[in-house]
Amino acid sequence: TKEHINKLADYFWEIPKSFREDMRVPAQILASEKILDDIIEDRSLNQLVNVATLPGIRKAALVMPDVHEGYGFPIGGVAATMHPDGAISPGGIGYDINCGVRLLTSQLTKDDIKDQLEALSKELYAQVPSGMGKGGQIRLSSEQIDEVLRTGAEWCVEHGYASQEELKYIESHGKLKWADPSCVSQMAKNRGLDQLGTIGSGNHFVEVASVDEIYDREAANAFGLCENQVVVMVHTGSRGLGHQVATDHIRVMVSAMRNYDIRLPDRELACVPFNSEEGKNYFKAMCSAANFAWCNRQIISWEIRNAWNTVFGENGGQLDLMYDVAHNIAKVEKHVIDGKEEKVIVHRKGATRSFGSGFDELPDEYIPIGQPVIIPGSMGTCSYVLAGTIKSYDLTFGSCCHGAGRRLSRRAAKKQVNAPVLKEQLRERGIYIEAGSFRGIAEEAPIAYKDVNSVVETVNCSGVAKKVAKIKPLVVVKG
Ligand code: 5GP
Ligand code: MN
Ligand code: MN
Repeated sequence: TKEHINKLADYFWEIPKSFREDMRVPAQILASEKILDDIIEDRSLNQLVNVATLPGIRKAALVMPDVHEGYGFPIGGVAATMHPDGAISPGGIGYDINCGVRLLTSQLTKDDIKDQLEALSKELYAQVPSGMGKGGQIRLSSEQIDEVLRTGAEWCVEHGYASQEELKYIESHGKLKWADPSCVSQMAKNRGLDQLGTIGSGNHFVEVASVDEIYDREAANAFGLCENQVVVMVHTGSRGLGHQVATDHIRVMVSAMRNYDIRLPDRELACVPFNSEEGKNYFKAMCSAANFAWCNRQIISWEIRNAWNTVFGENGGQLDLMYDVAHNIAKVEKHVIDGKEEKVIVHRKGATRSFGSGFDELPDEYIPIGQPVIIPGSMGTCSYVLAGTIKSYDLTFGSCCHGAGRRLSRRAAKKQVNAPVLKEQLRERGIYIEAGSFRGIAEEAPIAYKDVNSVVETVNCSGVAKKVAKIKPLVVVKG
């Protein structure tokens, strides 16, 4: 309860290490007072305290304001463990490895396309395969899947789905070099063979939106954003392949754990030392699945460009990649802890990296600004583009929230929402939804999510990211 939570600063709270004997570090919460009151209602802080017991965890276990319950770790969580012998835990990354978001900028304004929204929604729905387990147009051979797992978005350049230039606009340039397809099971590979270029179900989407407000002109210019401009957002991950990788390796870790004398308050936190055989195998497999996801989002962009050309023809202009961020991933990074630089394994599960200005992986024009951070809200509310900050290194290991965050379970949402009515209401507000099922719409209704404005206010005011622009949905294709 709240009496165990200390206020460290505005928007920043702490459950001290003394709260439970097995905590190795404090648990910290980025939230407004009101969001904190809501968070206390579910089990997510309990899960956060559990995370604080991970072997080798450094400084603090953290959650962002979009936090909600997840498998073992809360979604919206960040945990950094000592490199190389601290824990790596698949539950701290999630089943959808490298689920993430990208944003494409167009040269059209919302006025330019206002009469073609319905046609665009139909064409996107036709060209971008969606739905659970749904396959796509590309069918990979077993050699090709290994190439995809090894090379990520680079594979798309060789096969005509991306330009070389574009890769700079992807986190880690769309490729983690530690990937090793031999650590990915045949079953996982089989699940991926026909799933490139597909968004999957439920929470995943392709959304056409328009820029509604600019907060930071300089950053918006650098990112290529301006008022009324049409943009396209893509949210999906590594599909069945990533899910199978997580399943396979969690199974291995659950039984391997005892060899390392690891005891945890919740078996869903299953972990092994990063530098153990099992740890290295998982990390290489995770990197492979992450590469698959980057390749997937890139091919989806190619499909979107095709749909764009079909609908708008010569007047369509280009769709340029603004940025692509992962929000379910672990990365080995250097951070300053107690005044000293350390290598740590940063687990981000439902959390986005938000590195500040000067980060040299970024495209040149973004370096003075900081990394773009993309925060979707819901199909009926706004979403935001922010920029990472130097301050985030101190507070959150360079991390930020990844969305508004779920407020209602899928089941609760389905009970409360009349999907056909909702679809019509959104339509009256100028938002066209295309989805495989009404059930999907109900589960993803705006009321199923927290208020994105207050979540974004929290990260903006606490300083882990700064607001750049707000965008409003026009067309949403849901899995
Ligand atoms: P997750 O990765 O946890 O499934 O979802 C990321 C975030 O996307 C959610 O927390 C939610 O705020 C947001 N979101 C879910 N569906 C939609 C949608 O259709 N459109 C937009 N803009 N955001 C969505
Ligand atoms: Mn996902
Ligand atoms: Mn996601």
